[in-house]
Amino acid sequence: RRLPGGGTSPTVWSEFADLAREVDHKFEGGVANLGQGFPNWAPPQFVKDGLRRAASEESAGGHQYARSAGHPPLTTVLARRYGVHFSRDVDPFDEVAVTVGATQALLVALIATLDKGSEVILPEPFFDLYVGQVALAGGVTKPAPMTVDGDGEWRLSEDTLRKAITPKSRVLIVNSPHNPTGKVFSREELETIARVVREENRNRLPGDELLVIADEVYKYVCHGDEQHIHFASLQDMNDITLTVSSAGKTFSATGWQIGWIVGPRHLIQPCQALLPYLQFCAPTPMQQALADCLDEADREYEGEPSYYAWLAKSYARKRRVLADALRAACVEPLPSQGGYFVVGDVSNLLELMPDEYRDGSVAADWAFCRWLAAEHGVVAIPSSPFFTDEPSRPLVRFAFCKSDEILGVAAARLKALS
Ligand code: PMP
Ligand code: GLN
Repeated sequence: RRLPGGGTSPTVWSEFADLAREVDHKFEGGVANLGQGFPNWAPPQFVKDGLRRAASEESAGGHQYARSAGHPPLTTVLARRYGVHFSRDVDPFDEVAVTVGATQALLVALIATLDKGSEVILPEPFFDLYVGQVALAGGVTKPAPMTVDGDGEWRLSEDTLRKAITPKSRVLIVNSPHNPTGKVFSREELETIARVVREENRNRLPGDELLVIADEVYKYVCHGDEQHIHFASLQDMNDITLTVSSAGKTFSATGWQIGWIVGPRHLIQPCQALLPYLQFCAPTPMQQALADCLDEADREYEGEPSYYAWLAKSYARKRRVLADALRAACVEPLPSQGGYFVVGDVSNLLELMPDEYRDGSVAADWAFCRWLAAEHGVVAIPSSPFFTDEPSRPLVRFAFCKSDEILGVAAARLKALS
């Protein structure tokens, strides 16, 4: 009952994954699925090799329960890497918690920090699952709407953020690179957020601070000029920030579902305490494989200085391909610098949608996406689940973590429409 819609309607993810399967046979070559953000290719060879090695491990320890808070080979690598990102020592046992994907990491972080009725500030638009997760953790969401400026960039104003804060605010979720917009918050923008949080905490008692959950799952998918900044590395933010990330996006392995939380021990301890009650541990072989991959990815890869650099570069190209295709189809793409997605304004195509799709039960962008998938074989995700109220213009999210072939099919179908 606590879930959005009382838990009776499917999430946008389930609806459009089911729809993609249902209508696939109607289109030659199948639907072009630019919906849910998962690459339609297997992970790179060194990642598959890591998993193969982990699966072939002869000792029992490689296959039985791991330590609940995380398999030490993985927490050791994570602690070392985040030590560099945060410019401090990170303890692999007390300051890291390994979870089943970033999804569980977020839920654990929220349960660990919220009291009943605590408010969670979400810069809007926001990743839709936060809303249900905050509700499950007993909290209440408080949107802080971002606006699109003259250049098409999403901005969170300092004033809006200040106004969203009340004495009940317990957590602010900072998601950069951002889903769905692809915004990568600049250092200046993050420092403004950090200053507002710091000033708020001057009036609060120890233990009652406004905390930050930094959702950084797309941190290696920065394909524009803006570099990823770890929020916890900013002045005074280390002690109040839980940093969440996962392996899925970085290694094109969204099904591996290994995530983590890194933070100061007083915030990680309650997260670790929760883990045995949730899933006892994340899968041991996956953790072992990832422990090998994280550092291996620093080596030269396909002519680039590292796999991470190669990843960002390949997504920069894919983003251009998709943005050009959208423009050719009269869908104006908003700028994006990171993540897997381009958001486009579909106003020009909306009038082509037949009336039978406008039944009023869902927002216009949602109806449009149903029509686009069912009649034209292109799956995309409506933006309205990422907003509290229906957005003032129809925005649709298109994923470009797809093969050039799929992007080409989608481009041709969109073009034919306009
Ligand atoms: N946060 C954001 C912003 C995401 O887009 C996703 C993608 N599903 C997640 C968290 C969850 O990541 P994971 O697949 O590791 O659970
Ligand atoms: N993060 C992915 C997306 O935004 C997947 C969402 C999900 O399945 N939870 O597309």
